[in-house]
Amino acid sequence: MKIDFTGKVALVTASTGGIGLGIARGLAESGAEVIINGRSESSVNQGIQHLQQAVPGAQLRAAIADLSTPEGVETLLKVAPDVDILVNNAGIFGPQDFYSTDDATWDNYWQTNVMSGVRLSRALLPGMVRKGWGRVVFISSESARNIPADMIHYGVTKTALLSLSRGLAKFVAGSGVTVNSVLPGPTLSDGFAAMMKDEVEKTGKSLETVAKEFVMQNRPSSVIQRAATVEEVANMVVYVCSEQASATSGAALRVDGGVVDDIV
Ligand code: NAD
Repeated sequence: MKIDFTGKVALVTASTGGIGLGIARGLAESGAEVIINGRSESSVNQGIQHLQQAVPGAQLRAAIADLSTPEGVETLLKVAPDVDILVNNAGIFGPQDFYSTDDATWDNYWQTNVMSGVRLSRALLPGMVRKGWGRVVFISSESARNIPADMIHYGVTKTALLSLSRGLAKFVAGSGVTVNSVLPGPTLSDGFAAMMKDEVEKTGKSLETVAKEFVMQNRPSSVIQRAATVEEVANMVVYVCSEQASATSGAALRVDGGVVDDIV
């Protein structure tokens, strides 16, 4: 199979690091022009420099915007008013006791993880439908189905993305635009590394080893028995954005290493 995005413009939110950067790289390697989004000029420049080295000749556009507010989304839309592919990757996560999770935290998670995707889809889907081709992907999580007791606020937002994705797929049914969600499991991203930093420093073990121990202790149903790499998650996203994935819409696609103990 040869995936070719020549002539397509892709927006990947929060693509200066972690899974988003991996997705941006995969799309650029297959010929898409990729809009790189981050909250600061320096992080966006760094992401672009990284991609220019990794993918010589890559076509990249910078979009500095904080997607936790409607104004931030408007700023992004000025740079990306019309795209063929939208990957809603921006998301924050971290463990927090339910009793001490205040309304402001709940609201920030909802705005960043859910409303950014709602606002971008509302603005960008009409153009895709008019062209008769488009791809929208929501980066959800295995935590959408396997809600962690220490990250309920996060799990709620990721379950909401499954509902949003399925509903939008039906909303644009028959238009040539597909909408899907991808559910990664524990993945060795920058954010995951930050969550494991104390343990790596305390034990002197490698990030991979600490991540494997995390998976075995906290997600013992994992079939691969380790964290996934950013590339493993990005590969699924690149495929579902491709022409070849045209019969996949309204789906929740797992790259969770089998953590969710279910046959579908
Ligand atoms: P990460 O923390 O490594 O990267 C996230 C990026 O988002 C960072 O570059 C950060 O600067 C950016 N960001 C944060 N808030 C933003 C905002 N308001 N506006 C714009 N950018 C913002 O995270 P990651 O692990 O790569 O996660 C990417 C997505 O994958 C998230 O939606 C996350 O929930 C999901 N996910 C991650 C894992 C995992 O184990 N890493 C597992 C399942 C799902």
